[in-house]
Amino acid sequence: MKCPFCGAADTQVIDSRVNEEGNSVRRRRKCATCQKRFTTFETAELRMPQVVKTNGHRTEFDREKLRVSFLRALHKRPVPTTLVDEAIERILQKVLSLAEREIPSRQIGEMVMTELHKLDKVGYIRFASVYRSFQDVDDFREAIQEVQQP
Ligand SMILES: [Zn+2]
Repeated sequence: MKCPFCGAADTQVIDSRVNEEGNSVRRRRKCATCQKRFTTFETAELRMPQVVKTNGHRTEFDREKLRVSFLRALHKRPVPTTLVDEAIERILQKVLSLAEREIPSRQIGEMVMTELHKLDKVGYIRFASVYRSFQDVDDFREAIQEVQQP
């Protein structure tokens, strides 16, 4: 992104925000040459990134999978669904505002842990203890499913 004041190519993003509809991102930028600040609105291709698993495979970002991870970690815990939905929404916002084409599944896992930590300590420990050793949300989900089968 070129600076509109001096034309320098080296500008730095200092803040990113996704609008409510999730279809554009507003960025505050600062020019490294003249130090002036300006705002850009980017609407092109704002969509969920591909998730890169630890084995290098790429999958579509799946909101439902994210939800399942939360529900499994919070199984039989007294956490209202609305709070879980809000946590998921915050993660989606965070992922969107990165505006990257790809995101490591590890990074999503860390976001899940941050949210679980705020929601419920037991759910957090459940997720963290299993997830830490797998380092991948998908592997984690599979492992938990196995554990829960009678
Ligand atoms: Zn400039």
